[in-house]
Amino acid sequence: MKNLWSDQDAEAAVRKYDAEGVNEDLALRVYTSRLIGAEPQLVIHGGGNTSVKTRVKDFLGAECDVICVKGSGWDLATIEPAGLPALQLAPLHEVRNWEKLSDEDMVAFQRLNLLNPSSPNPSVETLLHAFLPQKFVDHSHATAILALSDQKDGTRICREIYGERVALVPYVMPGFQLAKATADAFEQNPQVEGIILEKHGLFTFGDTARQSYDRMIALVSEAEAVIEKAPSRARGGASLERAAATQAIAPILRGACANTRGDGAFDRFLLEYRTSDAIREFVDRSGLAGDGARGVVTPDHIIRTKNKPLIVPFPKAGDLDSFKEAARSAASDYRRDYDAYFEENNARYDGAKQKLDSAPRVILAPGVGLFGLGRSVSEAKVAADLAEITVDTVLKADRVGRFEALGAAELFDMEYWSLEQAKLGKAKPKALQGQIVAITGAAGAIGAATARAFADQGAAVALLDIDFEMAKAAADRISGATFAAPCDVTDESSIARAFNAVVSEFGGLDILVSNAGAAFEGPIADLDDNILRNSMELNFFSHQYVAQHAARIMRDQETGGALLFNASKQAINPGADFGAYGAAKAATLFLARQYALECGKYGIRANVVNADRIRSGILSDDMIRRRAGARGLTEDAYLGGNLLGLEVRAEDVAQAFLHHALAIRTTGDVTTVDGGNVSAMLR
Ligand SMILES: [Zn+2]
Repeated sequence: MKNLWSDQDAEAAVRKYDAEGVNEDLALRVYTSRLIGAEPQLVIHGGGNTSVKTRVKDFLGAECDVICVKGSGWDLATIEPAGLPALQLAPLHEVRNWEKLSDEDMVAFQRLNLLNPSSPNPSVETLLHAFLPQKFVDHSHATAILALSDQKDGTRICREIYGERVALVPYVMPGFQLAKATADAFEQNPQVEGIILEKHGLFTFGDTARQSYDRMIALVSEAEAVIEKAPSRARGGASLERAAATQAIAPILRGACANTRGDGAFDRFLLEYRTSDAIREFVDRSGLAGDGARGVVTPDHIIRTKNKPLIVPFPKAGDLDSFKEAARSAASDYRRDYDAYFEENNARYDGAKQKLDSAPRVILAPGVGLFGLGRSVSEAKVAADLAEITVDTVLKADRVGRFEALGAAELFDMEYWSLEQAKLGKAKPKALQGQIVAITGAAGAIGAATARAFADQGAAVALLDIDFEMAKAAADRISGATFAAPCDVTDESSIARAFNAVVSEFGGLDILVSNAGAAFEGPIADLDDNILRNSMELNFFSHQYVAQHAARIMRDQETGGALLFNASKQAINPGADFGAYGAAKAATLFLARQYALECGKYGIRANVVNADRIRSGILSDDMIRRRAGARGLTEDAYLGGNLLGLEVRAEDVAQAFLHHALAIRTTGDVTTVDGGNVSAMLR
């Protein structure tokens, strides 16, 4: 591992933070914390922590001894001085010889000693940092160290490599007891350069930021050299036939892992797909069923990846039906095993723990790769990142000896840690959390407003439009998980590519808003056939094409879904010279009802929104001017020419689509969004 210390960068950090009133100790602490955080072989996603003992002024301006330690919610890669809150050091030493301190009391005690009461919670390893006497302390979950330590005889292996240069602490869960055990180990041999916590990670320390960082890199590099020398034990995968496409299996896996809710709805996950030579070496190995699910490589990971991944059978191309059956059965076995693990271990707590859902967060698929699962795109990416690091660590551990994780009881204690349990139920998920929506014509006024409304409710949104640049621009304006793809809804191959892209990006599809359309004008008695045919192509057939693609994905998931169609007032209330448009939209209204009839048994609902007089691509500013003029009205009077006397906006249409996405007992329905117009009312 390369040592990235640079005198120049260190000095630059000191100068930069000095200008912000931050002292040199803390500036250098930020500098090397970021060096550690930027190396995925040391820590990822908020893992690890660092500290410095220094002197700062308290509220009254008096100098005092403090420890600045990583605060929760901060990532070492991007940490700033504010992410290392200062605590009075002396009181922390007072509890060094206490017998017990509960996690809740420890958190409260740490907060009590903060200099700034609005600081984030200091790391749960704060006392461990405080009990060590050195000025700088660094902690990582280095892959190479875990590869040596995640072994049946990991302690012996580490001892042979490092001799008396490191202290070794048998596994104890993070918290007060681990802080004491680590301090004890250090005090027995204060000459050590670092401490390896069994099956957890590495601590190094020093008088300077550089010394502590240098020791981290040196100790990890030695471990890497040992692994490098060990023979590679690539066992060569079973000779696999051609695997089914990732886009074909993702919806099946996503559906198999969704959680059923009491009200008949589902809590769904997003999928993040990963593959690489190392991942394939791991998932294609013979014996994956036994070797692939041995447990997490460091306790932190369990919160985001659960104790074990779901392993599914090889998805043979051309035989998706049997894969689907096998995958669903593997997922149901996973839940059963997880429930048993919970029951068995919860008994140790007299049933006091609140059960988490039983769905996996990582799926290993031979011949394909791995998937991270999350209730949001970012959660899915974190799970996939951690799974990749796990694969790397286990492959390395199996070169050195044989990877062995913590036991089920230790894993459970971490997964059901009281501090984690206390966070449950605090953040209410948004209504469409975990759901994936695809919107056609998404660059237009109604499409973009609908994309925004769905993103606000937590959905992952795919904006499809024939104008990719516009769709991309609309996606970029929305905060949340969005994705843009080109899609010509009159071209089946373009639709297939767009839906494949959506599945690759998010893992499946739950809601289709079939919105793309355009008005075609001309008196019906003299209408050129081509106008009618073009209108039918765009305003009718395209709805059928996209609905077919969407329904196929939804049926693979077996978690229902919603097909939402943008028809028009024209579908039931003809306007002069709009025959070509109205005929196609009327057919689309019928189409929706046919889908409602035939797909209800799959839980797929089909509903329609009829909108009128919305300022959009179909009703442009110029058309509004002309029509208002023809009627001798102002533009406002024309747009507000309805029972409510209000202009109907694209956002109002978006709300109607949202209503239909959420109304899980409604299908075959038509919602009119026109401000009120008696002649357009359904009868
Ligand atoms: Zn740790």
